[in-house]
Amino acid sequence: MESEQKIPHATAKRLPLYYRFLQNLYSSGKLRVSSAELSEAVKVDSATIRRDFSYFGALGKKGYGYNVEYLLRFFRETLDQGEVTRVSLIGVGNLGTAFLNYNFIKNNNTKIEMAFDSNTEKIGTEISGVPVYHIDELSRMRENDVSVAILTVPATVAQTVTDRLIEEAGIRGILNFTPARLNTPPHIRVHHIDLSVELQALVYFLKTYPMEGGDS
Ligand code: ATP
Repeated sequence: MESEQKIPHATAKRLPLYYRFLQNLYSSGKLRVSSAELSEAVKVDSATIRRDFSYFGALGKKGYGYNVEYLLRFFRETLDQGEVTRVSLIGVGNLGTAFLNYNFIKNNNTKIEMAFDSNTEKIGTEISGVPVYHIDELSRMRENDVSVAILTVPATVAQTVTDRLIEEAGIRGILNFTPARLNTPPHIRVHHIDLSVELQALVYFLKTYPMEGGDS
C-alpha cells in the first residue's frame, strides 16, 4: 500500500466521498465494487474514479471490480480516520451556530471542540455541548492542540481574526466561510467556501446550460 505517494488535490478532495460510500458498502457485507457502481453512487464519472483509484495502487480487475476492504484500509490511513481532528469555530452567529448544531463527527472524524466570539452575551454559553469562549482566549486552541478553525465571523473582521489565529492560536488550517479573501503565510492552508458565489455559479450554469447535468 503506497500511502506515501503524492495524490493530486482534486483526487484527495474526493476521498471522503469515496470513503463514506465504501464504509456503507462494507457494513452491508459487500466485498467488491465496480467503478460503474461507485460512479452511480457518488456521482463522479467512472473514468475519473479509475484514475483516482490508480493513485491508491488499487487497480480494479475487469469483471471483478475493487476490493472494498483494501480501499477502506487505504482511505483510513490516508484520511487519518483513526484519529479525531479537533476543530474550533470562530464567530457564533447564525451560520456558526448551525455548524455547531450539526457538528461533523457523523461524516468524518473531525469534531468542533470549542467556539469563540466577541459578543459577551454569547460567551460562557454552550451550543450542542460546545463551549463558547471570548476571542481574547484564542490561546486555548494552542493549549488544547486545536489547529484547525472554521471561520464564520463577518467579512469585515475576517483578516484581523485570521491574524490573531496565526499569532495567538498557532493555527494550521482555516475553512473560510466569509466572502473575504485572506492573506496568510504559506505554511497556513486556507480553504475558501463562499456560499453566495457557489449559489450564483449554480444558477448561472442552470441558465446557460439548462439541459446538462454534471458536477464541478
Ligand atoms: P447574529 O444575528 O447572531 O449576529 P449573524 O450570522 O448575522 O448572526 P454576523 O454579523 O455575521 O452575525 O457575525 C457572526 C458572529 O461573529 C457573531 O456572533 C458576532 O458576534 C461574531 N463576531 C463579530 N466580530 C467578531 C470578532 N472580531 N471576533 C470574534 N467574533 C466576532
